[in-house]
Amino acid sequence: MSSTSESQTGSVSSSTLHQVPGLDPLEMDSISEKTFERYSSNTVKRNGKGVSIVWFRNDLRVLDNEPLFKAWVSSEAVLPVYCIDPRLFQTTYHFGFPKTGALRAQFMIECLADLKKNLMKKGLNLLIQHGKPENIIPLLAKAFAAHTVYAHKETCSEELQVERLVAKSLRQIVLSPAQGKSSRSSSTHNPKLELLWGSTLYHLDDLPFSIDSLPDVYTQFRKSVEAKCAIRGCIRLPKSLGPPPSIDDWGTIPSIEQLGLHSEKTTKGMRFLGGEAAALGRVTEYFWKKDLLKIYKDTRNGMLGPDYSTKFSPWLASGSLSPRFVYEEVKRYEKERLANDSTYWVLFELIWRDYFRFISIKYGNSLFHLGGPRKVEHRWRRDEKLFEAWRNGCTGYPLIDANMKELSASGFMSNRGRQIVCSFLVRDMGIDWRMGAEWFETCLLDYDPCSNYGNWTYGAGVGNDPREDRYFSIPKQAQTYDPDGEYVAFWLPELLPLPREKRNFPGKSYIEQVVPLKFGNTYKQHSQRSKYGGRQSGLQRR
Ligand code: FAD
Repeated sequence: MSSTSESQTGSVSSSTLHQVPGLDPLEMDSISEKTFERYSSNTVKRNGKGVSIVWFRNDLRVLDNEPLFKAWVSSEAVLPVYCIDPRLFQTTYHFGFPKTGALRAQFMIECLADLKKNLMKKGLNLLIQHGKPENIIPLLAKAFAAHTVYAHKETCSEELQVERLVAKSLRQIVLSPAQGKSSRSSSTHNPKLELLWGSTLYHLDDLPFSIDSLPDVYTQFRKSVEAKCAIRGCIRLPKSLGPPPSIDDWGTIPSIEQLGLHSEKTTKGMRFLGGEAAALGRVTEYFWKKDLLKIYKDTRNGMLGPDYSTKFSPWLASGSLSPRFVYEEVKRYEKERLANDSTYWVLFELIWRDYFRFISIKYGNSLFHLGGPRKVEHRWRRDEKLFEAWRNGCTGYPLIDANMKELSASGFMSNRGRQIVCSFLVRDMGIDWRMGAEWFETCLLDYDPCSNYGNWTYGAGVGNDPREDRYFSIPKQAQTYDPDGEYVAFWLPELLPLPREKRNFPGKSYIEQVVPLKFGNTYKQHSQRSKYGGRQSGLQRR
């Protein structure tokens, strides 16, 4: 396995596999230990009684974890739990794709193993249980007489439903005063569910507007939070969080087969390693070792190799990486090395992530509906043959096919690629955008309902911001972002023998195009003003 990287534009052999991060396990361990040390506190005091539970969800980290902190402060023993919810391994809502593809499941397995290891280093452990949280958590609360279950708050309907069910089943658990050691009263009581906000850069409670008045235009949102809100500091934990309650069987990290999936190996492109140690390793690698933060804004629209962008998204989505930690590292870099447009731009992008999360609260389920938040009426096609061609990377357009093959092979696609394949599916093929969104849901390592459906609704022109009606011209995108056809030849090696300028425009040397482009096939035609506002595709988007 290769873990070296090339220059931003250097040529990449078609068999290259990059591990992300490209660090060895000992180095990652050492980085995470030093970071935990830097973020630990000697001054926090523990003043609770009894047992509290930490229910881990999409927050598979120790650093900057408020539920873990509060559970420790409010108890004498903390029980960390993760439930392997069978619903995550069923099918997507409309089109029946696997809800979690094998590559993301593998990433999750690695996150769990690393979380367990890090909790053990802190004097705790991770109880792994198979089943629905609403069945497991109350049983544990009863067995350990836990006074409180702490967890991070989610925002989308499936996750909210689980929260409601857990809260409801906890209300049915009755602890006697003798059981609930924390109870000062003599009456019986139920374990509480305390949900805490912790997935964004800006805290929900610090927003300068109510969610109902959240601006519908990203720029207005960004300017307002930048001017009026401060980003809270990361939560600092004591060095040791032990002891855990006494448990004979902590359960085991499942294998991919136990999750009902077949193991898939990434053999080219990027192979992301799950877990908090890898996340902290990637931050160190990208910011400090390779010193790439200072050029991020110039490289971020790339498509090939691990270094054109941060690649933080899989760890942010699983919660192995805290956005506030990324913020603090950017600020440290700006102090110790330099501050420029690029250092700011990583934060600019993280604010997009925040924005889609807050939008998911404002617009609720309409984010998943065909008409989107704006309830746009449009006739969409559900042509399975065309969709299959898109999904399998057989459309006859190398730029689309290469990106779709990268997604299937590695669980990742660049932001540029995502915008291009989304535009092609919805504008050129006219296919129901939710088919694309659900396929992304299956495959993406960084799948997050807010960012995925938020971006798809934008791309499909049904998002909350009506000005975001964009068309991405494939010839133009290819000429701008893959002028030498290196990216397409990497994923479609049959194009390698062609002259570089032909790789994106192979004509008869490649498979037949399944649909014509809405605005024609040549770059010349595309530089004319289009009905989508005359802006040349999304180039000015951000
Ligand atoms: P960088 O360019 O290094 O950006 C840093 C971080 O900023 C990212 O890790 C991410 O957390 C955030 N970010 C950047 N762009 C966006 C954006 N447009 N929306 C929200 N956050 C952003 N991102 C996901 O994390 N999960 C998804 O499910 C997802 N689905 C997408 C679907 C479509 C159709 C599109 C167009 C974009 C989607 N994105 C999604 C956003 C974006 O493509 C990825 O976050 C980005 O490519 C991840 O690579 P990176 O970490 O190197 O990003």
